[in-house]
Amino acid sequence: MKTQNVTVTAESLKSKRMKNKKRKRKFKGNFNNGSEENPRPAEEEISEISTRKRKRRRKSAGENRSSAKLEHNFMESSKYVEKQSQNAMTREPSKPPMSSLKPNNFLDKMRARLAGGHFRMLNEKLYTCRGSEAYDLFKNDPSLFNVYHSGYQEQMSHWPQQPVDVITKWLKEHSHSLVVADFGCGDARLAKCVKNKVFSIDLVSSDPSVIACDMAHTPLTESSVDVAVFCLSLMGTDFPDYLKEAYRVLKPGGWLLVAEVKSRFDPDNGGADPNKFVKALNCLGFNIVFKDFSSKIFVLFYFRKEKGRNIEGKQIDWPRLKPCIYKRR
Ligand code: SAH
Repeated sequence: MKTQNVTVTAESLKSKRMKNKKRKRKFKGNFNNGSEENPRPAEEEISEISTRKRKRRRKSAGENRSSAKLEHNFMESSKYVEKQSQNAMTREPSKPPMSSLKPNNFLDKMRARLAGGHFRMLNEKLYTCRGSEAYDLFKNDPSLFNVYHSGYQEQMSHWPQQPVDVITKWLKEHSHSLVVADFGCGDARLAKCVKNKVFSIDLVSSDPSVIACDMAHTPLTESSVDVAVFCLSLMGTDFPDYLKEAYRVLKPGGWLLVAEVKSRFDPDNGGADPNKFVKALNCLGFNIVFKDFSSKIFVLFYFRKEKGRNIEGKQIDWPRLKPCIYKRR
C-alpha cells in the first residue's frame, strides 16, 4: 500500500511538473506571439511585464488627464454659454475662450438648450402678463423678440400643420380685396403669403411693414378692416382687450379668425370651455360662423361682426385662457 502510495505521489508530481512546464510555455508564447522557437529568458519576461505595466499605468494616467481636460472644457464651455446668454440679455460683447471656438457638438447642444430655456421663460412671461408689460419688456430689449421667435419657430417645426397656413388658405379662397389686420403677426408670414393688404401688428417691428404696439391699442382706424386675425396670439392676460380692439377696427360684417392651441380649449385639462368663449364673443358683438376642431394641435374659430350692435359698457364673462407652456424637447 505504502509503495503504491509513493508511486502515485511520484506520478502525480511528474504530471504536475509537466503541467507547469506547459503553462510556462503557454505564458511565454503569449508574449512571443505564439512562437516557441525563440523563448526569451525570464528577466526579459519580467521586464516585458513591467514595461506593459508601465505602459498601462501611463495610458490610464493619460486617460485621467484627458478626462480632466474634458471636464475642464465642459466647465469652460458651460461658463461661456452662460456668459453669452447673459450677454444676449444685456448685449455686452465678450471674447469666447479659445477652447470654445472649436466646433463642438456638445457645445451646440448646450447652446440649443439654453436658447430653448430662454424661449420657454419668455413664452411663460407673455402668457402671464398684460400686453402693455410685454410691450415694455420687448421695447427695452428688442433682441428678446429674436430669442422668442427662434424658439417659437423651433417649436412650430414639429407641428404637422401650422394654423397660419390654414388661415392663408382661407384668405386665398376669398377676395384679395379684403383688408386684413394680423394681430400678433410674428415674422409677418401671413402678409408675405397673400395678395391682400395686410396690417401686420406685433410688439416689435421685425420688418418695416410691421406696426409695433400693444395690440390692445393699435393705430388702425375704426371700421377699416375686413378680416382680423389672431393666430396663436391671444397671449396676454388682458386678451379680451385685444378682441375689443379687433371689434373696433373691423367693419360691420367683418371676419374675426382666432386660431389657438387646442389644450387652451380643453375643459377636461384645465382649458376653457369653447362654448363659454363663443358666448363671450357673442356678447362682444360677434356671431360664430364655424368652429374647426379637426386638428389635434390647434382649434380655429370663425366669427363675423354683427351689424349695428351696441356693446358699450357691457359686462362680459370671459373664460380664463390657460397659458400654453411648451415642453422641453
Ligand atoms: N401669428 C404668428 C405668430 C404667433 S406667436 C404665427 O402664427 O406664426 C404670437 C405673437 O403674438 C408673438 O409674436 C408676440 O410677440 C405677439 N403678441 C403677444 N402679445 C401681444 C400684444 N399684446 N401686442 C402685440 N403682439 C403681441
